[in-house]
Amino acid sequence: MAQHNLWSGLSRGFMGHCPNCGQGALLHSYLKVTPTCAACGHDNGRYPADDAPPYFTILIVGHLVVPPLVLFPGLWTLSPFLLLGVALPLVALLTLVLLPRIKGAVIGVQWAITKTEGKVPGQNDEGAWVEPNP
Ligand SMILES: [Zn+2]
Repeated sequence: MAQHNLWSGLSRGFMGHCPNCGQGALLHSYLKVTPTCAACGHDNGRYPADDAPPYFTILIVGHLVVPPLVLFPGLWTLSPFLLLGVALPLVALLTLVLLPRIKGAVIGVQWAITKTEGKVPGQNDEGAWVEPNP
């Protein structure tokens, strides 16, 4: 029996595995969710990650890149071409590495919430999407 808690869903998703069984691949083609887990048959396509993965990725990468620029003013004495030549590839690489992992983690959290609440967040009991109350 699979554990149905937040941490297992988050960690399995972060590692790119199905949050339900931890075996099957959660994503293919970089960011596309594999609709049905090849290992356990769980419907992973029902979890809408939407804009959360890019939001959290920008949040994390920004917090990793900006503090060194503020804490080490000596960096600003370097040539802008050198600074940008190092910083931009680093930011791009970090973003590309983190984005699928964070998408997996978001889906893993949604899986854990669904197991607790009995439905996907944002859906009613019949599985239809509900608009938030104004
Ligand atoms: Zn699975």
